[in-house]
Amino acid sequence: MIKDRTRVLVTGGSGFIGSHLCERLLEDGHEVLCVDNFFTGRRINIEGLLDNRRFELCRHDVTIPLCIEVDEIYNLACPASPVHYQRDPVQTAKTSVLGAINMLELANRLKAKVFQASTSEVYGDPTVHPQPEGYWGNVNPIGVRACYDEGKRCAETLFFDFWRQHQLRIKVARIFNTYGPRMKPNDGRVVSNFIVQALRGEDITIYGEGQQTRSFCYIDDLVDGLVRLMNSPDDVRGPFNMGNPDEFTVRELAEMVIDLTGSRSRIVHHPLPADDPKQRRPDITQSKKKLGWRPVVPLRTGLERTIRYFDEQLASGDVLELLEA
Ligand code: NAD
Ligand code: UDP
Repeated sequence: MIKDRTRVLVTGGSGFIGSHLCERLLEDGHEVLCVDNFFTGRRINIEGLLDNRRFELCRHDVTIPLCIEVDEIYNLACPASPVHYQRDPVQTAKTSVLGAINMLELANRLKAKVFQASTSEVYGDPTVHPQPEGYWGNVNPIGVRACYDEGKRCAETLFFDFWRQHQLRIKVARIFNTYGPRMKPNDGRVVSNFIVQALRGEDITIYGEGQQTRSFCYIDDLVDGLVRLMNSPDDVRGPFNMGNPDEFTVRELAEMVIDLTGSRSRIVHHPLPADDPKQRRPDITQSKKKLGWRPVVPLRTGLERTIRYFDEQLASGDVLELLEA
């Protein structure tokens, strides 16, 4: 017997995180409507779900209002990799801001619960370490990352104003670097770059000296946190940091990938991109306390699973086309 069947909208549902979330929600017995404009999403990510009668796919841009009936909304639509979000920065800002407004207005009309995928980027290049949710951040408002960082900050503002003004049931998570199967091989983010480079025997491109740090969360852990947050009591709104507090330098990551793949790739250094944060690590005290959530997959284990995925993908011609495009 299926209990609590809910109709759930996932924007950005054909992307990396969104496709795993759609899968989990279907496993939980819900009906899922995936809305995506396929800017960075891929059909292959959700191909396995298309036969499920509780799954629907709609090509749509969230900057345009949407008229549908749902009980819950997860708003994930937005490119997450600096390479992609900087390609059309005006569209990135619009996706975050207009996308948030459209989803909030939809939720308000339907009296639905609404979740916003925010980011550790709201902390910018942090001067407080590790970052607790109470830290207001250090963002360059006119820099090349601002379309994303400030877009997400504005989305958070809109969420909290809709709650104060309309008593909307909101949920906000600040997601830290997440990785796993279904990242695009040409996504440009560090984990997918290093794994693909190592598997293809190409140079591993460290930007700068590689002393900058990140804290990498495996996708299954993150999805578990997102669902826990949506299912939490109405007075639990966040924002909640969601990430793995184990912190690594980019060089340590490169060495681990070389070790796990047995690759002969060389490490090379490229210039550090503008405004690249020097350190990043979540303080997850609040998520532990209020959601009972903590990541359980260590980086080595998560990387092994991700390497297996890319290894299989690289055997397919489609992926090679993407890489050579
Ligand atoms: P992704 O690029 O794989 O997925 C984003 C999805 O949104 C894609 O399917 C894309 O086609 C879709 N999209 C983009 N603009 C859209 C628009 N205007 N209308 C409809 N769909 C649109 O990225 P991801 O890693 O899956 O990230 C998902 C969400 O999580 C994003 O909001 C991102 O900001 C957030 N996030 C991710 C990370 C991470 O490490 N992966 C970290 C922090 C925050
Ligand atoms: N990075 C790198 N080589 C790459 C891609 C990224 O050294 O091929 C670095 C990047 O400069 C940053 C870190 O890895 O310091 C994480 O980059 P990513 O784009 O994955 O995420 P974000 O910067 O948004 O945290």
